[in-house]
Amino acid sequence: MACPNSEKNLKACNCSYPGCPRKGLCCDCLTYHRAKGQLPACYFSKDAEATWDRSVDAFLKDRASRA
Ligand code: SF4
Repeated sequence: MACPNSEKNLKACNCSYPGCPRKGLCCDCLTYHRAKGQLPACYFSKDAEATWDRSVDAFLKDRASRA
């Protein structure tokens, strides 16, 4: 079944990783990164997102740099 929110989700998606099949499918995106102990792109600032490091450490560093 296609996600009824995928078009709306894509408009809000800040992920710059090319070719990911989970773009616009937030449930799949979150499940994928959670299983790896990570967070999805939308938790990160523009600069931090661009590194493609989705680790919790990277998230905390990004948050600290914005405080
Ligand atoms: S955050 Fe990860 S799973 Fe989500 S769209 Fe980007 S690369 Fe894909």
